[in-house]
Amino acid sequence: MQFALNDIQLSIKKMAREITVKEFAPRAAHVDETGEFPWDNVAQMRDAGFLGMTIPEEYGGGGFDEVSFNCVVEEISRACISTSGILCAHFLGVKPLIIAGSEEQKRKYLPLLAGEMLGSFAITEANAGSDAAAMATSAARHGDEYVLNGTKVFITNGGEAGQTIVFAKTDPTAGARGVSSFIVEKGTPGLSFGKKENKMGDRGSCIRELIFEDCRVPRENRVGKEGDGFKIAMKTLDDTRTSIGAQAVGLAQGAFDAALDYAKQRVVFGKPIAQHQAIAFMLADMATEIEAARLLVYRAAALLDAQAERYSAESAMAKLFASEMSHRVVHKALQIHGGYGYMKEYPIERFYRDQRIIEIYEGTSEIQRMVISSNLIR
Ligand SMILES: Cc1cc2nc3c(=O)[nH]c(=O)nc-3n(C[C@H](O)[C@H](O)[C@H](O)COP(=O)(O)OP(=O)(O)OC[C@H]3O[C@@H](n4cnc5c(N)ncnc54)[C@H](O)[C@@H]3O)c2cc1C
Repeated sequence: MQFALNDIQLSIKKMAREITVKEFAPRAAHVDETGEFPWDNVAQMRDAGFLGMTIPEEYGGGGFDEVSFNCVVEEISRACISTSGILCAHFLGVKPLIIAGSEEQKRKYLPLLAGEMLGSFAITEANAGSDAAAMATSAARHGDEYVLNGTKVFITNGGEAGQTIVFAKTDPTAGARGVSSFIVEKGTPGLSFGKKENKMGDRGSCIRELIFEDCRVPRENRVGKEGDGFKIAMKTLDDTRTSIGAQAVGLAQGAFDAALDYAKQRVVFGKPIAQHQAIAFMLADMATEIEAARLLVYRAAALLDAQAERYSAESAMAKLFASEMSHRVVHKALQIHGGYGYMKEYPIERFYRDQRIIEIYEGTSEIQRMVISSNLIR
């Protein structure tokens, strides 16, 4: 069993680290405070090739493996979860095309997504989040077009992305089997966007409603067969949720680094708090948990690279453990900072707020437990 990253993975990780330290870290507090969509960071990611990383080279991408991609997400998340969130949501818009897109769709959209166009993925509705198959958005076939009606909520990159993969019912009587997926470009008549939501954390990556009112989409924009949309969505999430685990590992590492520095400097009762065993043991537990989660994330990504038959449960385990681990780590990191950790002057309160979303999006912890247990039981 190989536990080390290879030379290419190591150099990509190093490059992501350098860009993060130079570009994203200095802007992270401003992005959080203002909630501005960090287009500068998106441009940096585009220039570094991150937007096209796992897109095959024949479609203009970098052709890199999932382990490398997860390393990039991890490194960016050490400083700015909003930026890594934009990247992860972009790949939610890319993956369905790689999984089920026609050759024409791949040739048309993947080169754009590898460079100038942000992607997004719209499945959630006000009454259909975890229970996504309960969606009400409809796509009625009229000749060579589908007419979409309904509203999606909480869509990351919504309004900023040039393209969205939208899931809608072509057969409202058939449950999950009645769902189909479509490429909808920004600017398509009948598609409008709601206001930018005001979030507790992860404040730079915007979420908006997508409102479809007789939005006409050409038949050639349907991804996969009619009725295959739900399967495509679930396969996409199997492939992408590991990267949310990578966000958790990176965020926890960022919080840990801040806590370790602080613990070495802050003196109480005549010595640095790191030398009080209660604090030293907290640091030991944090470092151990981060390492365990990192291994789960890399393993799930490696299984995906190896096109293993099974990785649905493994990617859910990586996301579940890493996200809940990051909760415990930010809690301890703030505790180590004492009262100062509660102040805006220190980055730890931002990590604390940002962390919470990792346990919710791309499937809550409860949904990950359902995925894992159903794989165990069947
Ligand atoms: C910042 C942010 C970004 C997002 N980005 C996107 C995006 O880009 N695209 C997109 O389509 N969606 C996106 N979402 C939506 C997100 O995936 C959903 O919010 C999430 O899946 C949970 O759905 P819900 O909010 O409707 O909660 P609900 O499904 O109503 O769940 C409420 C609670 O019940 C629990 N629960 C649900 N079902 C069960 C069950 N069977 N057993 C036990 N407990 C259960 C849940 O775990 C949760 O604790 C985003 C959300 C946020 C907040």
